[in-house]
Parts: sequence; C-alpha cells; structure tokens
Amino acid sequence: EGKSAGRNAIRFFNPDMQHKVEQRASMETALSRALEQREFELYYQPQIDREGGLLGAEVLLRWIPEPGKPVSPAEFIPLAEDTGLIVPLGYWVLETACLQLRAWQQQCPERGFSLAVNISARQFHQHDFIRRLQEIIERSGADPCGLKLELTESVVLDDIAGVIEKIDGLRRLGLGFSMDDFGTGYSSLSYLKRLPLDQLKIDTSFVRDLAHSANDLAIVRAIIAMGHSLNLHVIAEGVETAEQKVYLERYGCDAYQGYLFGRPMAAREFESRFIVAAARMD
Ligand code: C2E
Ligand code: MG
Ligand code: MG
Ligand code: MG
Repeated sequence: EGKSAGRNAIRFFNPDMQHKVEQRASMETALSRALEQREFELYYQPQIDREGGLLGAEVLLRWIPEPGKPVSPAEFIPLAEDTGLIVPLGYWVLETACLQLRAWQQQCPERGFSLAVNISARQFHQHDFIRRLQEIIERSGADPCGLKLELTESVVLDDIAGVIEKIDGLRRLGLGFSMDDFGTGYSSLSYLKRLPLDQLKIDTSFVRDLAHSANDLAIVRAIIAMGHSLNLHVIAEGVETAEQKVYLERYGCDAYQGYLFGRPMAAREFESRFIVAAARMD
C-alpha cells in the first residue's frame, strides 16, 4: 500500500522521470541476461592507412536483444559499467576478438593486421586484468602483436604510476595502446607525455566540421603535430567525407576510420570485403 502510494507520488510529481527510471530498470534486467542468451555480437570497422591499405579494424560491440534491433553501445555500456556487467562482458569481447584475430592473422600472414578493442576503465583497473588477458590470448592462439587496446582518458584519472605499470606489463606481451577520443576528456598533456602509448585517436567531434571550421582544423593539425613529435601514430575517427580526408592527409594524419571507408559490420562481411582482398595482395 505504502509502496504503491510512493510510486504514484513520483509519477504524479514527474511522469517523465518515472518513465525513465522504469525504462532503465527493465533495460538493466534484460542486459543482465544478455550475455548468457548470446545477444551480443562484435562488429568490425576498417582502419585504412595513407596508401589505402588495410591496417586492421576496431572491434565494436553490439547488443541485439531482438533480431534487427541493435541497441547502441552508447546506451548500454554506461549501464553495464554501473552494474559491473562490463567486466565479464569485456572479457567476452576480448575472447571473441582474439579468436577472430587468430583466424584473420592466418589468412593474411604477411601483414601486421591488428584488432583494436575498447577497454573500459573499470575493466582495466581490475587487479588481475593482465593475467586474465594473457590467458585469453594464449588460449586463442592469436599473435598478441596484433592486439591493440583503446583506452580513454578516464582510465588515467588517478594512479598514473599504476596505469603506466599495467600498460608496460601488457606491452611486454606485445600489445599496443591507443588513446581513444583524444582531446575530449580531462587528462592533461603531462599525463600524455608519461603514458607509453603507440597511437592517438582524434575524436569524431573534431573531424565532423573539419572542412568548415577553422578552429577544428587548427585543433586537428595541432593534435597530429603533437602526436608525431611524441612518436605516436595518429588515426582519425568518424571520417565520413572525401573532403575531411583531404585535410587530414594534408596535415599528415597516418590513418583513417569512418563511414567513408566502411561502417562497422559483421565479421563475415568484413572478411569478404577486406580480409580476402588483403590476403590476395600478399
Ligand atoms: P568509440 O570507441 O569512439 O567508437 C567509435 C564510434 O564511432 C562507434 O560507435 C562507431 O560506430 C562510430 N563511427 C565510426 N565511424 C563513424 C563515422 O564515420 N561517422 C559517425 N557519425 N560515427 C562513426 P559505436 O559503435 O556506437 O560505439 C560507441 C562507443 O561505445 C565507442 O566509441 C566505445 O566508447 C564504446 N564501445 C563500443 N564497443 C565497446 C566495447 O567492446 N567495450 C567498451 N568498453 N566500450 C565499447
Ligand atoms: Mg574506440
Ligand atoms: Mg573513439
Ligand atoms: Mg568517440
């Protein structure tokens, strides 16, 4: 009685908020079962170098609770982080990606083909992350040199020394590191200088208006120059138009990712469109 009165009171006070709370609760329940129900799938988006060659792909998670209706990671990753599901889910992503990596490495053995996997801060900070990832890699048979981890600036919000130590430990296994969404977070350049990274990823928000915004152009140019002076490979994400690519190319950007080159796609499609062609060229 009291409980339902309370609920009604909220509904009366703010029906919109009530609706959001209910929606979130039901999504949370559905998400908690999604892993065992095999509702997740990995999509792959090509990364292309300046000569138009295939470097590899970014691995992007999809939740497909009903056929044909994928839920965006932007919606469910934050929820998975709050509930802690991100940890088992993240290991599933790594396991699946490593098995795929091994298969594709075997198909184009001549290339340094790599898969880039997004790692949430919560997962990265697990105390046994290195050991578990090492086990996953060994079981998969993949060459770890083809595995790159994408971290965001939120990973380095505290304990930079610990983060450096962890990155170094993983680098010794052969893994590479990319700083994702660069320029949108809160980390400082003094952090960037200390982190043993391989790559900077220019965020979509700077690429979007590149051809029409002098400010964005200046920022992108500066990121590329700074990345190169720190000996980092620089890739731009969200490249949708030939015009954006022209500017990126002019300022020396090393690689591109975006709809211009290919949308994120299922493994089978990625394989027939990109791997088969690359293997033929070897
Ligand atoms: P992100 O790592 O920055 O990934 C890039 C996002 O940009 C992807 O969105 C991709 O589909 C989208 N994108 C790629 N090219 C273009 C383009 O040309 N134009 C536009 N407008 N968008 C483009 P998506 O797949 O929805 O993923 C969103 C975010 O969710 C990712 O951002 C990443 O932070 C997170 N995420 C995705 N998969 C995973 C995962 O396995 N683990 C974790 N922890 N996070 C993930
Ligand atoms: Mg990413
Ligand atoms: Mg990104
Ligand atoms: Mg982004």
